[in-house]
Amino acid sequence: MLAADFANLERDINMVNQSQADWFHIDIMDGVFVPNISFGMPVLKAMAQHAKKPLDVHLMIVDPDRYIQTFADLGSAILTVHAEACTHIHRTVQAIKAAGMKAGVALNPHTPISVLEEVISDLDLVCVMSVNPGFGGQQFIENTYDKVRRLRALSNAKNAEVMIEIDGGVTSKNAAALVQAGADVLVAGSFVFASENPSETISDLHAIANT
Ligand code: ZN
Repeated sequence: MLAADFANLERDINMVNQSQADWFHIDIMDGVFVPNISFGMPVLKAMAQHAKKPLDVHLMIVDPDRYIQTFADLGSAILTVHAEACTHIHRTVQAIKAAGMKAGVALNPHTPISVLEEVISDLDLVCVMSVNPGFGGQQFIENTYDKVRRLRALSNAKNAEVMIEIDGGVTSKNAAALVQAGADVLVAGSFVFASENPSETISDLHAIANT
């Protein structure tokens, strides 16, 4: 939703409601963990009110434990925190689940998948950042394919049932290869909202990802 038109938010939310998209992906940025600030609770509450699909909330903030209950109260289905922003990932993940949400951990492009070795079985989702977080509309990092393949292998080796989500620079050109590498969830922002027919672009991505 970071790429939506905030002056026409209800229109864009309804477009997603009526599209083939499965979830709303919502990027929360604090201006500390990442240089940018996205939007705060009043905007988020408005989104939650109109969204008719699960909210997939991606926290790009320091010390995310402070906000777990806030996002649970908002009705988030999935709450993803950054490995680089958590001192005690295991505890944070348990707290997210105890609050009734699915738990995700996101990895920046430079962060090795090995940081998840001991917790991957506790996770519902791993978000692989395929750009450096902080801004929409960036170029996709090619190393992502290999990272996803290794992450899928780690998940299998640990008998984990984790969804792998790709966030950043997803287009109709790389979607099929990402799914083939082991991705389950593709996040698309600018590619959708900057296209001529966003709903059709979502349908196209959906079709590519499900073949
Ligand atoms: Zn995101």
